[in-house]
Amino acid sequence: MKALEEKIVREGQVLAGNVLKVGSFLNQRIDTLFMMEMGKEAASLFSGQKITKVLTVEASGIPFAFAVASAIGVPMVFAKKHASANVSGALYRASVYSYTHQRTYEIVVSREYIDESDKLLLVDDFLANGNALKGMIAIVGEAGAEVVGCCAAIEKGYQGGGDDLRAKGYHVESLAIVESMEDGLVFRK
Ligand code: 5GP
Repeated sequence: MKALEEKIVREGQVLAGNVLKVGSFLNQRIDTLFMMEMGKEAASLFSGQKITKVLTVEASGIPFAFAVASAIGVPMVFAKKHASANVSGALYRASVYSYTHQRTYEIVVSREYIDESDKLLLVDDFLANGNALKGMIAIVGEAGAEVVGCCAAIEKGYQGGGDDLRAKGYHVESLAIVESMEDGLVFRK
């Protein structure tokens, strides 16, 4: 998505540890109109697929996943990072190693929100090593539901997670794929 690549170049900051900061429109302050355009673009990449729900992980996946789900016209479910008082009853659980926080955490989804009739599109703000998506894939597997595909707003192609999932047969789409951040941002064509 050309407009997203241009926005990343204009507003993104490359931080230490290979982290791309896009807090001005994607992660902390949300450019709501642009987010809805991103949602439409993502939905168009999976048009014709019978998606029943969009799944993401809190917190930074939520705005993009909401926009994608809204464009498709289905509910959005987000996995919580901690089982809290308002996450009651039986849970699906998976472990995720976080690249940005360098630790493993558990994600949980109430069993009542996904079942074996569901066809899910898995969505996240970033796709780097693919661990967050693999955690979501594990949860969908536990539910006996189907993964229709995976969609990230921004993929860091050089970290390999997206291509690893493609090689495993998943339909993975990203609106912008960053191939390098060393001497300016380079995008995959
Ligand atoms: P993965 O699990 O694919 O290695 O990483 C994806 C998760 O890590 C995303 O949910 C995202 O929140 C976070 N992440 C990974 N790389 C970056 C980055 O460069 N910038 C930001 N803002 N988040 C990132």
